[in-house]
Amino acid sequence: MAVNGPSAEARRAREIRGRLERLHERIQAWCQRYGRRPEEIRLLAVSKTFPPADVRAAAAAGQCRFGESYVAEALAKQVHLAALPLEWHFIGPIQSNKTRRLAAAFDWIQSLDTERLARRLDAQRPPGRPPLNVLIQVNVSGEASKRGVAPAALPALAEVVAALPRLRLRGLMAIPAPSDDFAAQRRAFAALRGLQEDLQARGWALDVLSMGMSGDLEAAIAEGATLVRVGTGIFGPRPTR
Ligand SMILES: *Cc1c(COP(=O)(O)O)cnc(C)c1O
Repeated sequence: MAVNGPSAEARRAREIRGRLERLHERIQAWCQRYGRRPEEIRLLAVSKTFPPADVRAAAAAGQCRFGESYVAEALAKQVHLAALPLEWHFIGPIQSNKTRRLAAAFDWIQSLDTERLARRLDAQRPPGRPPLNVLIQVNVSGEASKRGVAPAALPALAEVVAALPRLRLRGLMAIPAPSDDFAAQRRAFAALRGLQEDLQARGWALDVLSMGMSGDLEAAIAEGATLVRVGTGIFGPRPTR
């Protein structure tokens, strides 16, 4: 009788576990190189476009934070995974007609960039749930991206968000223009860190600096990231939607 090989699903789960292990090793090595403590760095697994089974495999390997960019896809996925104690972060562009669903289904919103969206999320966060953790997305690369608040407008937006009772301002997030140049990557991340330090100097206790993806993780860790967002580095190449 032929022995069955491992199922495709088991193979996929092993692949995800292996990538996660190698990622943790790399993060640890970079922490050592740049004088960071590994426990300062939260890992967000960006699961957009990947199926619930992949999230389950990552969760079984110890990963508890997941990031999604598309509301409908995220909600469908969460239904399949409701039994798992996962922390969900929204990292995509926010449309105002989706804020109610975002406020109900997510633990963190990393992509807040306008006062209007802040007020909607605050009003729509369901009673009985803790305040929604919020990062303000900053456009650190100027013209390269239309998303994120301009650095000059950041303090005023932070003021608004911090005063809303159902939101909890935790820090900043940025997606700098992609660059293969390590020094340029570091400059963009240093700029975000500087903005966070400016806000901290004004008295806000911000503890999360979300920067770094699969391609620029080392630079982000070098410049003080406390949350890194990794998709392909855990799940492999993204399928086209
Ligand atoms: C998709 C995405 C990521 C993950 O990108 P990878 O290059 O796959 O690591 C991180 N942050 C945001 C905001 C994203 O949209």
